[in-house]
Amino acid sequence: MIYLDNNATTRPLPEVIAAMQHALECGWGNPSSKHPKGQDAKTLLAAARAEISAFIGAQPVEVVFTSGATESNHHVLHGALMRPDMPRRIILSAVEHAGFLKSALRLRQDGVEVVLLDVDTEGRVKIESLRAALEHDAALVSVMAANNETGVLQPVAEICALVHSRGIPMHVDATQIAGKLPFSFAGCGADLLSLSAHKLHGPKGIGALLIRKGLTWPVMFSGQQERGRRGGTENLPGIAGFAAAARHAMATLHDEAERQTRLREAFEARLRAIPACVIHGAGAARLPNTISLRIDGLSADRLLGTLEREGICASSGAACSSGGSNPSHVLLAMGIEASQALGAIRISLGSDTDAEQLSRLADLLQTMSESLRSAASVG
Ligand code: PMP
Repeated sequence: MIYLDNNATTRPLPEVIAAMQHALECGWGNPSSKHPKGQDAKTLLAAARAEISAFIGAQPVEVVFTSGATESNHHVLHGALMRPDMPRRIILSAVEHAGFLKSALRLRQDGVEVVLLDVDTEGRVKIESLRAALEHDAALVSVMAANNETGVLQPVAEICALVHSRGIPMHVDATQIAGKLPFSFAGCGADLLSLSAHKLHGPKGIGALLIRKGLTWPVMFSGQQERGRRGGTENLPGIAGFAAAARHAMATLHDEAERQTRLREAFEARLRAIPACVIHGAGAARLPNTISLRIDGLSADRLLGTLEREGICASSGAACSSGGSNPSHVLLAMGIEASQALGAIRISLGSDTDAEQLSRLADLLQTMSESLRSAASVG
């Protein structure tokens, strides 16, 4: 099996599994309990928080553990509207994660004005669109750091500076960039940031919402855990696994980013020689590991079906949308025709990917494209 769907999820590392097992065996106490069993768990929790905050360039007090980026994004949206004296107006890019967009657009039913920022043909937010949206006050601006479907990077530092000049809180969904390229909460200047551990070889169902120190942001009013911001007994095995993944990412990120960039460039050179093969967002800076492509004349279902029979796991262009065979909202926002967007597939490399696997994939895509063309010329 060749696994090329690392933007959907990644394989948990052996050290992640070991850290989780250790937390289950030795850290099963409740970190809120005052007795020694609770204090052992509390120590583990503090150590994990310190590692994760160092990894993402934040202070430990800025980290709120959640069940993952979906939950973090939810708290960002709803927190923005719960803050006193805030306008009921939020601004986000048209290419945010499908689940996040869906929950933001749902707010229109409650009378919230939801402004979507345009992107250019490469999928980057148009700064003129942001400037126009910022002519009126808003409770929040949200732009992702890297797109999950195309890997296209957004100019988040520039966007954050512009948003701050208007005194509006800025959120960055860093779920896909974390662990793939150097990225820091303090460095990008965001007020809020979302993460999920399973995108960087950690476990599923654990992530974080970072809230800039000094900013009061309503999250969940219940227990006293997470400084009263997100109640409920902490998922210590998940958090320990997340910390092990963050430690691994810090140690390997630079070399791995370079290695995957080289692999991706060689693969894309092969793709460029395949007739009617198009790489989406090819003109923009992108994640080292992500390629969104189509071969005009072939549907994503057909491409993926063939790849699956050959033991290759990839996903459709609209990989994270719940809409099944709907065209990707990301590609539509980039001005790609719906019929062409339906042909998009996403290849996302990981630490297990090597040149031989990608060469096999390129061979298959080439054969499919050639048989399509020869069938068309016979027909
Ligand atoms: N944001 C982005 C950019 C993502 O890629 C994903 C996962 N596809 C999410 C949010 C949601 O993450 P999770 O499913 O772990 O909550």
